[in-house]
Amino acid sequence: MTDGIPAAPGTAAWFREGPDGFVLLAGRCTTCGALSFPPRPIPGCPDPDCDGQEQSPHPLSTTGSLWSYTDARYVPPPPYPRPPDTEFSPYALAAVELTAERMIVLGQVAPDVPMADLRVGMAMELTPGVLVSSTGVEERVWNWRPTA
Ligand SMILES: [Zn+2]
Repeated sequence: MTDGIPAAPGTAAWFREGPDGFVLLAGRCTTCGALSFPPRPIPGCPDPDCDGQEQSPHPLSTTGSLWSYTDARYVPPPPYPRPPDTEFSPYALAAVELTAERMIVLGQVAPDVPMADLRVGMAMELTPGVLVSSTGVEERVWNWRPTA
């Protein structure tokens, strides 16, 4: 699974890929256990009743159900990265409720999954994805796809 594609800028701490698979990494408050994804870039717990200041990486479950989705049919404006010299292709965005954590994680649907195949409530799984930057460089991101 490690194919050498670097994480999209700013997201290196948001997921891990290795022999044990591809997982998203939440920040877990070391005081109360509250999870946040993406990990909080600043100290402090997402729970306003907790004074915790530290968080540690916490692997999230990789399966869930499709809570909602939408299709993006317009070209995102700058500074959103876009591959050079390519036609814009519409894509789907999924909000997946993780089975174990009951938290909702957004992500792009794998590009080979037709929009017409998506149904709210269907089983989804995490998969590595690739984003092509505005300079044509491949960058690792995560995608969601219906469970096979
Ligand atoms: Zn906390």
